[in-house]
Amino acid sequence: MSKEYLKTTIGLEIHVQLATKSKMFCRCDNNAEGKEPNTTICPICLGMPGTLPVTNKQAVLWTIKTGITLNCTINKISKFDRKHYFYPDLPKGYQISQYDEPFCSGGYLEINGHKIKLNRIHLEEDAGKLIHKDGKSLVDLNRAGTPLMEIVTEPDIDSPAEAADFLRRLQKIVRDEVSVSEASMEKGHMRCDANISISDDKGHMSEIVELKNINSFKFVEKALLIEEVRLREKYPDWPEKVSKETRGYDSKKNETYTQRRKEVAADYRYFPEPDLPPFDTSELDLESLASGVNESEEIIISKLQEMGIPSFESQALAKDQIKRQIFEELSKSNKNYPFIAKAIVHNLFGFKFCQSDSLKTDSYNQALIEFDNGKLSKPIFADIVKLIHEKEYSFEQAMKETGGQIGNEDELASIIENVIKSNPKELENYKNGKKQLLGFFIGQVMKESKGKANPVSVNKILKDKLEQE
Ligand code: ZN
Ligand code: MN
Repeated sequence: MSKEYLKTTIGLEIHVQLATKSKMFCRCDNNAEGKEPNTTICPICLGMPGTLPVTNKQAVLWTIKTGITLNCTINKISKFDRKHYFYPDLPKGYQISQYDEPFCSGGYLEINGHKIKLNRIHLEEDAGKLIHKDGKSLVDLNRAGTPLMEIVTEPDIDSPAEAADFLRRLQKIVRDEVSVSEASMEKGHMRCDANISISDDKGHMSEIVELKNINSFKFVEKALLIEEVRLREKYPDWPEKVSKETRGYDSKKNETYTQRRKEVAADYRYFPEPDLPPFDTSELDLESLASGVNESEEIIISKLQEMGIPSFESQALAKDQIKRQIFEELSKSNKNYPFIAKAIVHNLFGFKFCQSDSLKTDSYNQALIEFDNGKLSKPIFADIVKLIHEKEYSFEQAMKETGGQIGNEDELASIIENVIKSNPKELENYKNGKKQLLGFFIGQVMKESKGKANPVSVNKILKDKLEQE
């Protein structure tokens, strides 16, 4: 029997630790890396009776910023809820999370032209960690209370490879574009649960398998591939009713194994956190939040290309933040975009830009315009911008210092006459039709004038003189 028409459906749930300075509801240090167990804790993150949580506003802003970037609806009113369960790394017996009013709803992330729908993004606190050692279990609560952003997709992903692409793209966004997390999978800053099911075209469906806490993108893809094959092979022996199974992944054996079967959904007895007032997001300046997001490399490249900049230069500018900033400054008053881009990328300037150069772009622009008009030779241009770069000169000061150009036509004419006289053989050949020798004469004149001759005038006077000879 052909199995061609079986469809794979995957959903992801990603927890991202936010790299805020302090924890979600107290002022404890949120960075426990390299610190002794149970040293970055206080009565609030330990959940002692009678303590009061206070919301970390930065974590809220970062969650909303992520939501804006992922095209979500930012809900006007949002609140925290208590999610009750017992576990040794959660001494207060509940996690502060969000139930029916998360900060962000809906949204999507586009992967290779497929807009993968999101269900929600909410904010919660992380639990502590259990360490199993020498037959004992130890509890480290340094991580308790770390802000966790949970991003939930719709079951809208079509293949294990697409799931891996989604995760890689999301990592780039939270790490480099919204810049809210280090997002290292190995260090547990980003943790992923995936669920997968297979269906046929008659509404018949396999069980839903949930794969928990897999710590690399490669392993998520491998574990999903294993399940995709396993569930397809069970066809048509799928359960009558929708059933759920949680499975783990053993990366050494590249196998999945049963952890537990869920008959009914766990009842967490959610109720609104009475110690935290609901959050009114209409009081926030969402526009300035959105403007703080770095654009993705792809978007930067396509914008540069729309300005007429060739692909090579667009990519080089997209990859180098300082060069791009210089380009942006220069292009405000110089509309010859491809020319400026090339000058920056191919190092016409002759030095490496630093941050302070973005303040000198008016002077650089004047030099560029004179060079572009042929009024400055390349070596003079280089001398001038070097003075602007190193000595903070204005363009005019730098022009004076370098002596500018030999503008005097008489002076130039005498250099040119000398050059022609001292190269009789080349003159002979030129007269006999080897016109490309013009370049040779220009080179000699530039050399004689130590680069100070104006290339446009040299070209004109040389041609006249050579024809007269
Ligand atoms: Zn604390
Ligand atoms: Mn969660």
